[in-house]
Amino acid sequence: MLVCINCKQGLMDPVRSEDEPEYTDHYQCGHCGHSATIPSLLIIISQILSGLLGGGLTLYLMLIHADNALSAREDEASSTFMIEAALVGLAVLLLAGFAYTLYRAACNLIIRHRYRHPGTAS
Ligand SMILES: [Zn+2]
Repeated sequence: MLVCINCKQGLMDPVRSEDEPEYTDHYQCGHCGHSATIPSLLIIISQILSGLLGGGLTLYLMLIHADNALSAREDEASSTFMIEAALVGLAVLLLAGFAYTLYRAACNLIIRHRYRHPGTAS
């Protein structure tokens, strides 16, 4: 049950548009008309899972290539080092993306929590 945080009296009803007949995360208060986008728990969970799994796998690959890059530098095989270093850089970019996904999931959880427990947060 999602409670309106504006008037704290009405319930947030899903607003269904013709574009998305199956599912919507857009809600409107039946009491005061306050509208908000409240992500579903399924979306939040999938964001957390993809962030953790993708981030973990990327971190693992990044460590492998960082190790390769360091040993390639010792062997003075500069082209191998460049390739491995580039892969590490790519992994860092991907990690940032997965970190952002986790950040978004945390924001969505906070938004959802506010509507489920309107008394606990102002
Ligand atoms: Zn309201």
